[in-house]
Amino acid sequence: MDGPVRGRFAPSPSGRMHLGNVFTALLAWLSVRAAGGTMVLRMEDLDPDRCRSAYARQVAEDLRWLGLDWDEGYEKGGPYGPYLQSARTSCYAAAFAALEEKGLIYPCYCTRAERLAAAAPHQSDGQTVYNGRCRSLSPEGREALARTRRPAWRVMVPEERVSVVDGHLGPFAQRLDQDCGDFIVRRSDGVYAYQLAVVADDGAMQINQVVRGRDLLDSTPRQCWLYRLLGLPEPKFFHVPLLLAEDGRRLSKRDGDLDLSALGRRFSAPEIVGRLAFLAGLQPAPRPCVPQMLIPAFSWGKITKNDIILKTGLF
Ligand code: GLU
Repeated sequence: MDGPVRGRFAPSPSGRMHLGNVFTALLAWLSVRAAGGTMVLRMEDLDPDRCRSAYARQVAEDLRWLGLDWDEGYEKGGPYGPYLQSARTSCYAAAFAALEEKGLIYPCYCTRAERLAAAAPHQSDGQTVYNGRCRSLSPEGREALARTRRPAWRVMVPEERVSVVDGHLGPFAQRLDQDCGDFIVRRSDGVYAYQLAVVADDGAMQINQVVRGRDLLDSTPRQCWLYRLLGLPEPKFFHVPLLLAEDGRRLSKRDGDLDLSALGRRFSAPEIVGRLAFLAGLQPAPRPCVPQMLIPAFSWGKITKNDIILKTGLF
C-alpha cells in the first residue's frame, strides 16, 4: 500500500503490559517513526470479560513512561475514532452486514462440544478445523435450530491458498479450508470476533502498516481473506519475534516478574528499552537508551527473525 505510513499499536487491555508487549510496541513505534509516519494507539478491549478500562489507562501510562508516544488514538482522538474497540460496534456491524449481503457468511448452531467432537486438531497449534456442518443446513433445518439457540456466524473460506508476504518474515500461505475451516466473525453472544474487528478497524483507520507479535502470523491469511471480501486494501504486515522464557515457553501475563509493574521497580525506562533494542539486534550491547535514539539506525534488516530466549540476568 502506498502513501505515508500509518502504523498502529493495538494492545488488549486485559492486564499490565509484559515485556513481550513492550518489545512489539517498541518495534511498531520505531518502524513508524523511522518512516516519518503516523502512530495510532487503538485499545482492543473487544472481550468484555477480560478487558478493563483501568488497564487501558495503565497501558497508555506505561507507553508514555517508556517514551513511546502516539499521534492519534486512545486519549488523544483523531479523524478515525473512536479508538476503543468497545465503542466501535457499528463499524463491525457494517462490515458484518456487507459480508451478509454478499452471502459470504452463515449462522452456525454447533455447540462448542459438537465442534470439538467433529473437528480434527490443527497440526501446528492445537486449533481445531471447523467441518462446515452448518454451511449446508437447509432453510428448515436452520429455522428449527434457530428456535433452540443463538448462532455464531462464520465466513466461508476458499479451497485455495491465501498468501501474504510478510515484510519481515517473507512469504506465508495457508489453505484456510484445511487449516481452520470457515471461521467465526461473530460469537453467539453477539460479540464480533477479533478477526473481523481488526480488519474493519485497520481498514477504517487507513492503517497501512501492521507490526505485531509472530503469534499472529497464523491469523494473517484469515485477515487477508476478509480484506479481499470487504474490498479493503491490505496493510503491509511485519511480524516480530516472540520473547521466550528460558524453557522455551512464550512469555505471558502469568510471568508476573516480567510485567511492567515488577520491571519498573527494578529498571528505568531507558534500561528496559536499551536491553530490548539489544535483543532485537538494534544495538551491540544492552546499554540504556531512549527510543528516540534508536530511530536513525532502525531498519528491519537488522532485526532478528528468530524468537528470542531471555537469558537469566538480562531482566
Ligand atoms: N490486540 C492484539 C493483542 O494484544 C493484537 C492484535 C493485532 O496487533 O493485530 O495481542
